[in-house]
Amino acid sequence: MISLYEVTPTELAAALTTPELACTEAEARRLLAWCVSHGRTDFSNMRRPVKRALRARLAEVAQAERPAVLERIEDPVDDAVRYLFQAADGALFEAVRIGLDKDAHYTVCLSSQAGCAMGCTFCATGRLGLHRHLSAAEIVASFCAVRDEAPGRVSGAVFMGQGEPFHNYAAVLRAAGVLAHSCGGRISAKAITISTVGLVPQILRYTAEAQPYKLIVSLSSALPERRRQLLPVAARWPLTELAAAVASHAEATGRPATLAWVLMGGVNHDEAEAEALATLFDGVPVRINLIDINDRRPDGQRRATDAERNAFHDALSARGLPVIRRYSVGRSRDAACGMLASRRTTALSGVA
Ligand code: SF4
Repeated sequence: MISLYEVTPTELAAALTTPELACTEAEARRLLAWCVSHGRTDFSNMRRPVKRALRARLAEVAQAERPAVLERIEDPVDDAVRYLFQAADGALFEAVRIGLDKDAHYTVCLSSQAGCAMGCTFCATGRLGLHRHLSAAEIVASFCAVRDEAPGRVSGAVFMGQGEPFHNYAAVLRAAGVLAHSCGGRISAKAITISTVGLVPQILRYTAEAQPYKLIVSLSSALPERRRQLLPVAARWPLTELAAAVASHAEATGRPATLAWVLMGGVNHDEAEAEALATLFDGVPVRINLIDINDRRPDGQRRATDAERNAFHDALSARGLPVIRRYSVGRSRDAACGMLASRRTTALSGVA
């Protein structure tokens, strides 16, 4: 069965070869636009011209199924709606519709995996472990489900939900391609952001492939020992190797590299961090996104106070490191990435 959420028009036309179903690439474009761009799932109703036999029999070979929405939680404080999806095999994953500053414009935060193998100590998804990778079709289907669920224009997508996107590299890049396609999500490639905790080989591959999407590398500590404690995957690649990969990406794109810094109260905002960060990226154009950790968490971590945040901001600025404060959605109950799936998994399995 072909999923219309993960094919290009060329691939779809090439896959439909029987006499009744054979179609031109132009027809394949119209079909995909109908399903992915306009979010229609009933092929027989297609208004755009596609030959009748194809409309009538497409459902025998192709599908545009969406995951079931198990929960939908509105977060008025952050102008966000969180969705918990369940795939046909029971896998749970999340997405978030996030209001942008512009009126009725939204971006969608997407998961790349059900659970995650990276085990970051401050992350609810990390505590779930990896259940499985999501397919490109599941990622795009979740995007369409969120986009079509409420009015407004969805103009961006960020891969910052459950999972490490570069651990599921091929599916994430395919999904991003569909989201940016004129017959797919119709989002500018520049409005698609992929985040990684720092998988060096994949950063190098992404750079060599000259992928057009924005890249964010989540650093959160520039002190090797502390970073290994917070992000166990850091044990695989020394910080100097990661910094070299980031520098090569910045050089290849001609743009500053974006580093995400998940700010944890009392943990990673001291002078030593600012100094180590400045040394590590000496001569490399970077900008730092400071992201507050979510509140109401079970792991004892807390949000940094204004004084802590301001002091770190000043320490970075004093060293010539530009800082942008990003607001994480998640001031409401169960709002951190992975918390919905975590609560539901716990409830389903009965684990305390
Ligand atoms: S922060 Fe991202 S990479 Fe780390 S465990 Fe959570 S989902 Fe995985």
